[in-house]
Amino acid sequence: MQPAVPIDVDETSGIWRTDGLPMVYLPRHFLVNNHLAVEEALGREAYRAILRASTAKSAIEWCEAQLRGKGLGAEATFRHYFQRLSQRGWGQFSIDALDIAGRRGSISLRNSIFALEAGQRPGQRVCYMFEGFVTGAFSFLLGIAATAVECQETFCACDGPHDHCRFDFTARP
Ligand SMILES: [Zn+2]
Repeated sequence: MQPAVPIDVDETSGIWRTDGLPMVYLPRHFLVNNHLAVEEALGREAYRAILRASTAKSAIEWCEAQLRGKGLGAEATFRHYFQRLSQRGWGQFSIDALDIAGRRGSISLRNSIFALEAGQRPGQRVCYMFEGFVTGAFSFLLGIAATAVECQETFCACDGPHDHCRFDFTARP
């Protein structure tokens, strides 16, 4: 099948765009090799904290641009964000629970790029980059600071009996 995302390539500059946003198309191993090199240099927890802030910022900016450009509501934009991530090959996200009033939710991820590249690694949850994605999207949805959202990969496809990864998230009142 062909990609579900619209891709426009500028004939003059060669820049790829989807929905007006410049994009980069790159091999999965390139992205994951860079990711693992930085993780090794900084240590996982330090890198995880940096990624949480930077990826949350990008998720918020993306959602705000979609809100303006497509006229979707906040919840539709939140759902569209995970649909687009899935369509762009990061893995297949599904929103299993979304309780806006209760400020919590749960997202499953199948075929995560990080889990696929890692293979089986008992005791490790390797998809922590996505914690920031979820954090940013949920903070956008609630209209609160990303620092008020907590998200963690509760289990990972590469760790033990599960065939997918799961992210649980909650926001402080
Ligand atoms: Zn995972």
